[in-house]
Amino acid sequence: MDNVTVLDHPLVQHKLTHLRDRATTATLFRRLLREIATLLCYEATRDLPLEWRQIDTPLVPMRSPALAGKPPVIAPILRAGLGLVDGVLDLMPEAPVAHIGLYRDPTSFAAVEYYFKTPADLAERLVLLVDPMLATGNTVVAAIDRLRGVGAGELRLLCLLAAPAGLAQLQRHHPDVHVWTAAIDERLNDHGYILPGLGDAGDRSFGT
Ligand code: URA
Repeated sequence: MDNVTVLDHPLVQHKLTHLRDRATTATLFRRLLREIATLLCYEATRDLPLEWRQIDTPLVPMRSPALAGKPPVIAPILRAGLGLVDGVLDLMPEAPVAHIGLYRDPTSFAAVEYYFKTPADLAERLVLLVDPMLATGNTVVAAIDRLRGVGAGELRLLCLLAAPAGLAQLQRHHPDVHVWTAAIDERLNDHGYILPGLGDAGDRSFGT
């Protein structure tokens, strides 16, 4: 797929193996998720526009590049998406954070909204939607529908693992949304969990 970038960097793959391992504690899981979020963000922001600024080094004046425009919005899908926020903020500390409260109905897998808050100037910013697991794709599609409904323009998705079904669902509904992920796994099980996957990313992050 043209609009998917898999981060095959050895460090990302090494960290992902530890995340998948059921013996990994919640403390280590959170740290690794944060580190991979930073690396996903680094790749997903490669083409951000720059502008020239006039500055003075201790020795001479110079024109130097800096990010143009407003920083992107980070939009985590609660609750597991929260685990990616700090890793993105490590690179872009001035980025505002939207919160999208959606849970997956365990029977129908439909997305159910319980909280939604975005900055008022959403339309003027790139949106980095963050959710560790792109499984059926229903939740991510619902989040994008909702964000677009309140004016979001360009959106990019950062996730840890993607299932082929989730990528196909996203492609059907929002073909313009590019995905950055650490791996594309094999399939979903009957409960909509990614296989081989890493289990429930929220439970693993928060020790529930
Ligand atoms: N959400 C998770 O936390 N894990 C999965 O495998 C699928 C959805």
